[in-house]
Amino acid sequence: MTTASGTATRAAPPTAASRPEQLYPTLTAAQIARIAAHGRRRRVATGEVLVQAGEQTARLFVVVAGRIDVVRASAAGEEVVASFGPGMFTGEVTMLSGRRGLAQIRAGMAGEVIEVGRDDLLALIQTDGELSEILMRAFILRRVELIARGVSDVVLLGSSHCQGTLRIREFLTRNGHPYTMLDLDRDAGAEELLERFHVSAADVPVVICRCTIVLRNPTNQQLADCLGFNEAIDQTHVRDLVIVGAGPSGLAAAVYGASEGLDVLVVESTAPGGQAGSSSRIENYLGFPMGISGQELAARAHSQAEKFGAQVIIAKDAKRLACDRRPYALELGDGQRVPARAVIIATGAEYRRLPIETLPRFEGAGVYYAATFMEAQLCAGEEVVVVGAGNSAGQAAVFLAQTARRVHMLIRSGGLADTMSRYLIRRIEDHPAIVQHVHTEVVSLEGNGHLERVGWRDKPSGRVEMQGIRHVFAMTGAVPSTRWLGGCLALDAKGFIKTGPDLSPEDLAGAHWPLARPPHLLETSLPGVFAIGDVRAGSLKRVASAVGEGSIAIAAVHQVLHE
Ligand SMILES: Cc1cc2nc3c(=O)[nH]c(=O)nc-3n(C[C@H](O)[C@H](O)[C@H](O)COP(=O)(O)OP(=O)(O)OC[C@H]3O[C@@H](n4cnc5c(N)ncnc54)[C@H](O)[C@@H]3O)c2cc1C
Repeated sequence: MTTASGTATRAAPPTAASRPEQLYPTLTAAQIARIAAHGRRRRVATGEVLVQAGEQTARLFVVVAGRIDVVRASAAGEEVVASFGPGMFTGEVTMLSGRRGLAQIRAGMAGEVIEVGRDDLLALIQTDGELSEILMRAFILRRVELIARGVSDVVLLGSSHCQGTLRIREFLTRNGHPYTMLDLDRDAGAEELLERFHVSAADVPVVICRCTIVLRNPTNQQLADCLGFNEAIDQTHVRDLVIVGAGPSGLAAAVYGASEGLDVLVVESTAPGGQAGSSSRIENYLGFPMGISGQELAARAHSQAEKFGAQVIIAKDAKRLACDRRPYALELGDGQRVPARAVIIATGAEYRRLPIETLPRFEGAGVYYAATFMEAQLCAGEEVVVVGAGNSAGQAAVFLAQTARRVHMLIRSGGLADTMSRYLIRRIEDHPAIVQHVHTEVVSLEGNGHLERVGWRDKPSGRVEMQGIRHVFAMTGAVPSTRWLGGCLALDAKGFIKTGPDLSPEDLAGAHWPLARPPHLLETSLPGVFAIGDVRAGSLKRVASAVGEGSIAIAAVHQVLHE
């Protein structure tokens, strides 16, 4: 049995306090008094349940007298995960997101507590710098601790060779939700569990959600609903700003917008982080000299956006922008409609797919679009192929070479010099396990259920080579996610959104631009609708520039809202 982790990454920067002190701090009398101003004092009796496991209403408890225990059900009965004495407080990252708690909170000993609701807690965190640091750090470290200790309310029954299983693992991992994986091919206990919940091996992947609800091959949205990832959307309420996409650019816009007092809703179709979330290590983002995994960066940014009060909705697609009148409205895949005074499109780009007929059979079953720790585990000790010559292909090759027996890089052009950063080229050249094949392209993918053979062609000679390789990483760039916009905005020839000075007089005339002023820097051909990050025509495809554009756009949003 593997206890799999979610992001396990919402780590906070080190400070003078030791890790146990940061995880379970004891507040001073002055700090408690400041919290008390945001909550209500009340007596609790021994054994009184303060929050049920799986309850969605997040509440913080500070112990004034007595003891509070965090308890979870386990095969052996009940397990006390943590205990809090006087001066200590409950809570982890679900306090910010409003998601369901993973364990029960109850009074282990009669006493007195201060109870603080989520809205009051967010107000406190936003205004009290000292308490914000203590609380945020403890919440984040506690989630890491829960993941490390396998405290989870989700069991995934599946097979590491099954596409659906990989999708669910990816979804839970990238959303920072801990889960326990039982592999039908390896874990004896898996069969027993299938029987107990009256499901068969044909139903996998099966998710046992919150220890009771059985979902057969659920969609990401069904999983998100079961785990209570999303608060209800008030469709009558006109938001100041709706952001579509929670990659680095969308999350940056959410942090700046919410911290500057805007009422912000973010809609994300899969998980926070976007393309950056699939990067094993980003080494050129300012302030992280040792590099940072994309997932870790995304998890921190997500917490930061929620800390400032942005609402982030997961596993919901924007399907259409109703752009014929203001306020605009975003229509979601599930039929909901969200009105907004300003909109930021931050939908980035989707991976380019290999032009091979059999590809859909092997996506997630031997063909991958990300090289993270999870994929590296699947191909440890084996030969792998990385297709592409850009920085993402270079990062993947170097990362996979740590665990794979050999990494074949298939490069369509004559070399890497024009498309890859110098530091990566040097690492690839120096690595004994990486073999470069220039002027080479993939021509066939074969296998029964899982990829078993890869064919590639040497273009100058036309010679095709078949290799018994079970893992291919397609890292061949991306196309903009703009199809859903259906003619609302001026796009360039490749489908990227044109903004600001890139919009020609013809673009503006074609879009019936109604204002005397020209569009702001990141504004599209529709007043009050902005495009940022990789989806924007002419943008630099980098994390730092995406984040920068997210912050710049907010300045223009303020101007538009006052127009
Ligand atoms: C493997 C890899 C490694 C990389 N490494 C680096 C690096 O080391 N350094 C660097 O600077 N850059 C790196 N990049 C590039 C960097 O990740 C991107 O430039 C950056 O992520 C762009 O951010 P974004 O927010 O504009 O778009 P994205 O990251 O593409 O995010 C867009 C988000 O929008 C969501 N979305 C799309 N359509 C919809 C819809 N209709 N409704 C709702 N949500 C939607 C997507 O699910 C996604 O989460 C890397 C990219 C990859 C793929």
